[in-house]
Amino acid sequence: MLNLNQETPYDNLPLDDFKNTVLSCQQCELCHTRTNVVFGSGPIPCNLMIIGEGPGEQEDLQSLPFVGRSGKLLTKILEYVSINRDTDVFIANTVKCRPPNNRTPLQAEIDSCKPYLIRQIKLVKPKILLLLGSPSLKTILEETLTITKTRGKWYKTIVDYMSDPLYIMPLFHPSYLLRNSSQEEGKPKWLTWQDMKEVKSVLRFYEQNPVQVNKILVDT
Ligand code: SF4
Repeated sequence: MLNLNQETPYDNLPLDDFKNTVLSCQQCELCHTRTNVVFGSGPIPCNLMIIGEGPGEQEDLQSLPFVGRSGKLLTKILEYVSINRDTDVFIANTVKCRPPNNRTPLQAEIDSCKPYLIRQIKLVKPKILLLLGSPSLKTILEETLTITKTRGKWYKTIVDYMSDPLYIMPLFHPSYLLRNSSQEEGKPKWLTWQDMKEVKSVLRFYEQNPVQVNKILVDT
């Protein structure tokens, strides 16, 4: 599990200065091929945070996360459990710049961007963190298991910004669901609906009973 309490060079920067630092970053090779840096979007702080892989073509053009086909599906998935993507969730990516041809981010690129992600989590202060796809799973959980083995399971870690642990669940990436669109019981899309229903129930419970959240979650 990544230590989310570790210091970053950006811990003392106010949000605007931090954001400007990210938007002008040239710390890895992706700065040469991006159109825009995609910082992330949503309220800060926020109980729910989603971390995807990296910007795609539309995200790179618009400087917003999850606005292409995958993004539309993500919006639909969130709406299915009455989560408003503009007001109820902060959405970010593991790397803030688009990898050429939407390839998987290289480890060096992920490592360069990691302090930004850690600082973002400290700012957003989520109570629940959802990991979409393999790069965010491997970055946050430092997990060698596949997304198929880990999706829908709760993990937890201690964070400095609250007394309760931060609960983390890996989910299938919407782009995977676009390629596997069957809604038949047991298929990836159906499993994701079930996962989201559980996320929503925990979110609701946490909002109403913040100190008791641990009691309804199974230790991992
Ligand atoms: S991916 Fe991250 S580290 Fe690399 S240039 Fe973009 S913001 Fe900087």
